Amino acid sequence: MARVYNFSAGPSMMPESVLNKAASEMLDYAGSGQSVMEMSHRSKIYGTIIEGCEAVLRELLAVPDNYKVMFLQGGASTQFAMVPLNFMNTGKADYIVTGQWAKKAYQEAAKYGDAKAAASSADQTFTYIPKVTPDIIRPDADYVHVCYNNTIYGTHYNTLPDVGNVPLIADMSSCIMSEKVDVTKFAAIYAGAQKNIGPAGLVVAIVREDMIGNAREGTPTMLDYKIHAENGSMYNTPPAYSIYICKLILEWIRDEIGGLDKMNELNKYKSGMFYDYLDSSKMFRGTVVKEDRSLMNIPFVTGDEELDKKFVKAAEAAGFVNLKGHRTVGGMRASIYNAMPVEGVEKLIDFMKDFEKNN
Ligand SMILES: *Cc1c(COP(=O)(O)O)cnc(C)c1O
Repeated sequence: MARVYNFSAGPSMMPESVLNKAASEMLDYAGSGQSVMEMSHRSKIYGTIIEGCEAVLRELLAVPDNYKVMFLQGGASTQFAMVPLNFMNTGKADYIVTGQWAKKAYQEAAKYGDAKAAASSADQTFTYIPKVTPDIIRPDADYVHVCYNNTIYGTHYNTLPDVGNVPLIADMSSCIMSEKVDVTKFAAIYAGAQKNIGPAGLVVAIVREDMIGNAREGTPTMLDYKIHAENGSMYNTPPAYSIYICKLILEWIRDEIGGLDKMNELNKYKSGMFYDYLDSSKMFRGTVVKEDRSLMNIPFVTGDEELDKKFVKAAEAAGFVNLKGHRTVGGMRASIYNAMPVEGVEKLIDFMKDFEKNN
C-alpha cells in the first residue's frame, strides 16, 4: 500500500505515527480490553483521555486558567450560530469578511441581530486581509469576528487585528496549532478539528470565562457554552474517539515535533519552499499579496484553465492528490498542514518543475 500526499484543504493528512498508534490500540486500549470507541465516556479510563487532551492543548497554546476549553460537535459551522447566540448580547456584532467561511459566519449572525460587515476583501476576490483598526469597529459592538486563516483563499492575519476594547472572536479552523497565538488577545477561539488536530465533526472552543453564561433566551441547550463548560464537555456523549485522536495529534506536536515554536518553524520552512518556487516559476504564480500569505493554504494558477486541469490530473496520477482549487475559485491550491511531511512538499515542487519543463 502506497500512501499518497494529500494536499486537501480538509480533512487532511494525519501524522503516520498517530495513525499507527491508533491502529495498535484499536482493539485494546491500554489493557482495558476494549476500543476507545466502545468504552463509557464516564469511565475512569476515558476520563484520562479527555482530561489528557485538554491538558496538552492548554500546555501547547498556553491557555490561561480563566479560559474554558470545550470539545464540541457539529464542526466549525455550528460555531457560526453558537457565537451570536451566546455573545451577541445587545444585538450588535461586527464581522471582517475575508472569504467564504467568514461570510457564512457573518450571514449566520445576521439571523440573530445587527451584524455588520465592518470590512471586506471581496473587492479583490479575497486575496488580501483588510486592515483592522478600532476606527472601523463600532465601539458598542458585542464582539468582532475574524477568520484567522482563510482556507479557500490562502490568506492569514500576519498581524493581530486591532479592535480596541471590543472582544475579539476568531475562527482558527485551518491554522490552529500551526503557530503560537496569544490567547489572552481573544475572547474566544474555535476550530474545527479536521485540518490540523483531528477528525471531522469535532470542534474545539476556547472561551474566556466572563463571556460564558449570557446566551439569549431560546438558545438550544446544546448550543449554550455554559452547559458544556459546566459539564466538562460531557453534558451528552462527547465525540469520544475524535477527542482521543486529537490527544494523539497534540502529543505528536509536543513530543515528536517539540512544541508550537518548532511546529511553526517547520511550517514556515515548508511553505517558504513552496512560495519561493512559485515566485521563481514562469508557469505558476501565487494569487495572494505577499504580506498576507498563509502558511497552510497556498492557492496558485497558471493563468490557463486547460493547463490547470491538465496539471491537477497529472499530479493526481503521480500521487499528489486534492490539488484542485476550491470550486468557487478555480486554479490549484496546495494545503500544507502540520502533518504534511517536508518530503511531500519537496516532491511536489520537483513534479511542478518537470511539468513546467514539459508543457
Ligand atoms: C473548514 C472550515 C470551516 C468549516 O468547518 P466544518 O467542520 O465543515 O463545519 C469553517 N471555517 C474555516 C476557516 C474552515 O477552514
